[in-house]
Amino acid sequence: MSELRRQANERGLRAGCKGIVPLTARLEQWQIDLFERPKDISTWLDLHGSPLNIIDPAPMARNSAELEDVARRFDLDFRIYFARKANKALALVDAAHDLGLGVDVASEQELRQVLGREVPADDLVVTAAIKPTRLLELCLESGATVVADNSDELDLLVRLAQRSKNATPVALRLAPRVTQQWLETRFGLPFENAVAAGDRYRDGLGDSVPGIAGVHFHLDGYLAGDRVAAIAEALELVDALRERGHRPGFIDIGGGIPMSYLESESEWRSFWVEHKNSLLGEREALTFDRHGLGLTSHGGEIVGRPSLYPYFQRPVRAEWLAQVLSASLKVGGVPTTVADAIRSRRLQLRCEPGRSLLDGCGVTAARIEFRKQRLDGTWLIGLEMNRTQCRSTSDDFLVDPLLLRPHERVPAENTGQIEGYLVGAYCIERELITWRRLSFPAGVEVGDVVVFPNTAGYLMHILESSAHQIPLALNLVARPEGTATLDPIDAPGLSSTASRREQP
Ligand SMILES: *Cc1c(COP(=O)(O)O)cnc(C)c1O
Repeated sequence: MSELRRQANERGLRAGCKGIVPLTARLEQWQIDLFERPKDISTWLDLHGSPLNIIDPAPMARNSAELEDVARRFDLDFRIYFARKANKALALVDAAHDLGLGVDVASEQELRQVLGREVPADDLVVTAAIKPTRLLELCLESGATVVADNSDELDLLVRLAQRSKNATPVALRLAPRVTQQWLETRFGLPFENAVAAGDRYRDGLGDSVPGIAGVHFHLDGYLAGDRVAAIAEALELVDALRERGHRPGFIDIGGGIPMSYLESESEWRSFWVEHKNSLLGEREALTFDRHGLGLTSHGGEIVGRPSLYPYFQRPVRAEWLAQVLSASLKVGGVPTTVADAIRSRRLQLRCEPGRSLLDGCGVTAARIEFRKQRLDGTWLIGLEMNRTQCRSTSDDFLVDPLLLRPHERVPAENTGQIEGYLVGAYCIERELITWRRLSFPAGVEVGDVVVFPNTAGYLMHILESSAHQIPLALNLVARPEGTATLDPIDAPGLSSTASRREQP
């Protein structure tokens, strides 16, 4: 297809729905191909229920290669561990393994399932926030690397290791010093406590184990500068551990590698200008009830901070990692660069991206069940979906959905051009799928399909619930030939969710 025709088709696909101040999604080619076949999506919704998560693991190869290429340029021993908590589909675990990546798991079930996909324990790191006995026993049995968060956990691990006579590599999670951008964290141990925990671990196990195997941290934000400061401290911890007889072989800088969901920075800027104007009452609302998305107006001023992922940002992935690796820092007072400091210590650099590795790997589709007007005339569009099925810890997913029309036009049933809000299945007044006011230039019909692009990283799974006994969404894996099959996570008997739908 010519580039011009492709662009025209893409514009056509997007024409059905946009925010009243648009935030245009970046789309992958497989998504465009899929959206051009709305009848297929509709058939799958008939078969498997609404909503449906549709996953294509293919973009993970590009996303991981971007990072690996940068590390190679800096001549670093480098390994990516896919943070599986970002998406539960096992097709993504298989894809990560096929690409030679490791996997970062956050619970006993995640670990069991990944071992069940025949990922060797050498490729696994366990960063679960809470590590009960059963999880630590499974780590010891399998040999998965444990990232220790605190000394109680480490003491329990020592006791279990002594009892079972098993051993497994252990890394210490560092709680990096507070910086301007980086505030207190619940995770990990401050430097001095981490050194002490290392001593205690060695004293507990004696010479039977090689000591602490690595140093780990994971930060919440996305600033390269914060990572550099944390890396400096992690390297100082490596040096301190080595002086005390440990042999740490890696530093693991966790996840939070940034990505961008939107095509245009100017749209992102305009959105915030207009949103602030709307909160000040200077224009019509962009959001339901003028939801502030973290901001409020106070005495004619806007206060607060957006409680949202930066859906548009630069730099992302490769450029970001290159910035981190080339940054100057001082380790123990000695000036160097991040890459040199890691290389000269013969450390492997590890990272655990979740969201940015899944960039482009999934979409969520739901069917429209009703259109109606409130007493004040506001249009509400009812989706067979609830708000936990496209949600992260952000206040909202600020990416325009697309409206697809799988069936032939029935003019009498079309609303005509409207603006309105998407509402969902939970019996709550403020059950909005997105807070944003959306425009539907070609109207809305029952049976139309709304698709949310790029939901694979967290949005489809991290907060999903099955209140009202509404089952969790099923997960389809798109195949190159245009068909789609259920992900193994939805196979009967595997998952512990009681709400599984019957297989068709
Ligand atoms: C959540 C998490 C990740 C993944 O973070 P992303 O922002 O998805 O890249 C990696 N490591 C740890 C320890 C985490 O908790």
